[in-house]
Amino acid sequence: MILFKQSNELHNYLENLRNSNQTTGFVPTMGALHEGHLSLIRRSLEDTDKTICSIFVNPTQFNDPKDFEKYPVTIDKDIRLLESAGADILFLPSVETVYPNGMKQLAHYELGETEFQLEGKYRPGHFQGVCQVMHRLLDVVKPDHLYMGEKDYQQCMVVKKLLNFMGSTTRLHPCPTLREPDGLAMSSRNMRLTPEERKKAVAISQSLTYINDHLIPGNLKELKQYAKSFLEDNQFRVDYVEIADAQNLSIVDNWNGNTSLVALIAAFIGDVRLIDNKILKKGKEERDA
Ligand code: AMP
Repeated sequence: MILFKQSNELHNYLENLRNSNQTTGFVPTMGALHEGHLSLIRRSLEDTDKTICSIFVNPTQFNDPKDFEKYPVTIDKDIRLLESAGADILFLPSVETVYPNGMKQLAHYELGETEFQLEGKYRPGHFQGVCQVMHRLLDVVKPDHLYMGEKDYQQCMVVKKLLNFMGSTTRLHPCPTLREPDGLAMSSRNMRLTPEERKKAVAISQSLTYINDHLIPGNLKELKQYAKSFLEDNQFRVDYVEIADAQNLSIVDNWNGNTSLVALIAAFIGDVRLIDNKILKKGKEERDA
């Protein structure tokens, strides 16, 4: 695996690859890698000639400075994992490399409603930060294919908008969420959970499964409330339990039985904020399939 810290060196290297008609796949991450990240790397390795991973904990997407300070950093282990997975290139830029003109006057992106709902509502400025870093990384890497996790469902939608806005030809592939055997979605933040919190954390995926299994057309408020109470009974502080249109993420309180839905949860256990979601199956047959 080749390691690049400077954007111009990586850019030139990739320019040569493109000139020799090699396809590229890109997996942007914030490090503290786990099997979920590696599943994206493997997907890219299958689809493309060269796989590039970036590790950069982006300060502009953290609305809470404490969350940024406590974000786990395990760079030596990450490098070992990427090498054993077979990644070709690691981009490990500094803050100055990503934001050469500082972080004060960065671009503002028109994201519409998405910016202010769900994650956007509870993490003001978060998706502006996501766009700022992704725009810069995509400008440097210019990948043919981009692999991102459905675990960050709303982020995938925002990045799709960003690619349109940039007029980019990069193809985005949202990839399935990898889970621990008990159902907890893999996340870098899981390593901050105490053993007691870790046991309770499974309540998030259990709530999503409950919503999926009890979904019927009509009013959905009781179902959301049940899941919220279940999380609270397990010592969670809930930011939101929502059911939304899977295409545009507008909140659905009354379901007509046809629109595709996604259930989304964000909740704190201790001082660790976890998110997860599930695309909901429509009818009993689909659920039992
Ligand atoms: P992060 O390092 O948390 O910014 O994540 C980097 C990429 O990995 C994002 O596209 C995430 O959506 C994706 N990702 C994180 N957790 C998982 C998971 N459990 N399964 C699949 N992809 C994931």
